[in-house]
Amino acid sequence: MPRAEVAGAADLHAHTTVSDGTDSPSRLVAQAAAVGLWGVALTDHDATSGWAEAAAAVPEAGVALIPGMELSTREGFMSVHVLGYLIDPLDEPLLAETSRIRESRLTRAEAIVRRIGKDYDLSWDDVLAQTTEGATIGRPHIADALVARGHVATRSAAVEGILHPRAGYAQPHYAPDPLTGVRLIRAAGGVPVLAHPGTRGAEQVIPPRRLAQLVEAGLFGLEIDHPENRRDAKARLRTLADDFGLAVTGSSDYHGTGKPNRLGQCRTAPEVVERIIEEGRGSSPVLP
Ligand code: AMP
Ligand code: FE
Ligand code: FE
Ligand code: ZN
Repeated sequence: MPRAEVAGAADLHAHTTVSDGTDSPSRLVAQAAAVGLWGVALTDHDATSGWAEAAAAVPEAGVALIPGMELSTREGFMSVHVLGYLIDPLDEPLLAETSRIRESRLTRAEAIVRRIGKDYDLSWDDVLAQTTEGATIGRPHIADALVARGHVATRSAAVEGILHPRAGYAQPHYAPDPLTGVRLIRAAGGVPVLAHPGTRGAEQVIPPRRLAQLVEAGLFGLEIDHPENRRDAKARLRTLADDFGLAVTGSSDYHGTGKPNRLGQCRTAPEVVERIIEEGRGSSPVLP
């Protein structure tokens, strides 16, 4: 594993057209350079198929690429995302799980569209028209189709309206539990970080007992500096990070034009990036 000369901060959470972002992987890397980052992590939902294109863009852009993924997991009814950095993209158990999740995301999206189609002019082809071939499908793609059909003004309005579970059309997709997710990422040589763990406020932050299990399974850190984490939750999470000796990351969760989050808006300190690179053994960072 080459040791990086981490000269500046990195944004360790970004999406592309491989999932529900709007930039291609190469454009993401170019944008990372444009906003002055030392490095960027590519973390598409349940997929690593953007890595090669992103890596090819590194020499010209002059920024480092940390290959990663945002693994979908679920605790009861609550969706929990686990970032996995420097995983082995060919690790069989992880591949089996992500295939199963993507397959379930697809059948779930078709079911959601069938239900919406009873009340709105919307077809599966409308959704496909908003989706890059092979992409991990999510509600954002259905949202884009609703925008294209003129039913809502923006992706955010759709996600918070017609596609919100309370509207009655949405349903969950298959996902393993977070403990399984953390174990899978570590077993694939990756470095697991709990994504945006404070979006639901301090009351809903993961209970210490549950966190202890994730730490025992190899959890590396908490993504505390994230645009959607609430202030009260962040304070609680900082205490938990101290208590459990967890690293703290900061990242934008950039989705291109699909979300207001700006690339580089939140960043991770160089020393934390260094530790991730030291611990990751499933793949290597791509340095300029
Ligand atoms: P899904 O993975 O299908 O459950 O859809 C959830 C995805 O929607 C997440 O990856 C979010 O990034 C995205 N999302 C959530 N809220 C918004 C929003 N307000 N605007 C755009 N995208 C959103
Ligand atoms: Fe997303
Ligand atoms: Fe997420
Ligand atoms: Zn994300």
